[in-house]
Amino acid sequence: MRRLIFFLLILALAGYLPVLWLRSTGTVLTLREEVKVIGVATPIGVVAVNPHGVREFRAVLEQGGQAHTLFLRNEPGVRWNLFRKQENPRSYEFEAGTRKTPGLRNGRASLRLEAISNDLRARTDSLALEVEVNTRPPAISVDEGQHYITLGGSEVVAFSVSGYWTEAGVRVGKYRFRSFAREDQLPGPGRERAARRICLFAYPYDTPEGEVPVIYARNPAGAEVTARFWHKLFRKQFRMREILVSEAFLNKVLQELDRGGTGEPVARFIKVNSDLRKQNHQTLAELRLQTADRPLWSGPFLQLANSSVEAQFCDYRRYFYHGQSIDEQVHLGFDLAVTANTPVAAANDGKVIHAAPLGIYGNTIVVDHGLALQSIYAHLSRMQVKPGDAVKKGQIIGRSGSTGMAGGDHLHFSMQVDGVPVNPIEWWDSHWIQDRVLSNLRYKPEKH
Ligand SMILES: [Zn+2]
Repeated sequence: MRRLIFFLLILALAGYLPVLWLRSTGTVLTLREEVKVIGVATPIGVVAVNPHGVREFRAVLEQGGQAHTLFLRNEPGVRWNLFRKQENPRSYEFEAGTRKTPGLRNGRASLRLEAISNDLRARTDSLALEVEVNTRPPAISVDEGQHYITLGGSEVVAFSVSGYWTEAGVRVGKYRFRSFAREDQLPGPGRERAARRICLFAYPYDTPEGEVPVIYARNPAGAEVTARFWHKLFRKQFRMREILVSEAFLNKVLQELDRGGTGEPVARFIKVNSDLRKQNHQTLAELRLQTADRPLWSGPFLQLANSSVEAQFCDYRRYFYHGQSIDEQVHLGFDLAVTANTPVAAANDGKVIHAAPLGIYGNTIVVDHGLALQSIYAHLSRMQVKPGDAVKKGQIIGRSGSTGMAGGDHLHFSMQVDGVPVNPIEWWDSHWIQDRVLSNLRYKPEKH
């Protein structure tokens, strides 16, 4: 044992100097985000990992035999790592594109990243990537349809995008609605991206007067082009409603949604009614990403059978407690009542994407119908489906109830387009579906 230790000691002493001289570690270069296309000013982020640090980092774009240096960073050289320490990863942010390198032409190019390790051997590591320089903005051509759009309602528009683009859809003020490939041109082998697009969009209930919907497309450089389409907008006057908050209702709400909370009951109720409501709306809006890229539904949506309408979409509500106005909210669905524990059917074919308690909405089921159209069933006493289940129009998915912020047994039914609440009344109407949606969804051959 002692001989072994002695032997190791000799070996360590003898080996130490050459190790110092020769020790060098490679640099691992990684892009923060994939780079395929370089536009006018494309941001590029690179992380370089080397335990000895990086003496020099360089990014070069080569095209047509010319090398353009995009970025160069030097650090003071270290030759002797007598007190070796682990260096932190280096992070480099720079811009590639025609703004800083006017000599670039649209077409193929090669991006080379190079790092030299900060030690005696100064080892060079590099990473080369094939990229495309493309500064052409996308071009939009719009269908010839006429679009009648009501405040709080939905509409479909078809259009084509050419050129290089990464995002296209409809913009209404602060809202953006994604587009999808038309059914006749779903992405398939050898076809990366269909240029014919379809966009289901909302004219959101809170859109200020004068705001018009436009089609937009963006290229990878972030440049956006927009196109107008023929439309007629209809403003709509929503109803005002007074909600009398009884002692019993207030207690029920706090019991269920603010159990263990402290403070003044009315203040707690208001917090639930505004803060929790906002949170719940955020959760619903985020479900928009869980959608099929083709319509799963057909024909009009079902309204709860034999129900009486207790509240409508966009009822403007003022809450009164002991004669005092305490809060104001907008009701973003329909309240439909029959009797307690009434069977609730899926309004149309689709896939369940949520079935769980959701704050003020109690037990809530959300069904995706594709193209970012979704239906929502709230305050349920029972849920008979789970996320991932495929459902058919008319299939019983649960029972009505009064879970969450509900005074009595009813179904709160609402719909959303790309996360924005829309008036379900249109989707219940077979004529509207036929004229405004199905006729636009179907492929129409282009005129030549
Ligand atoms: Zn409701």
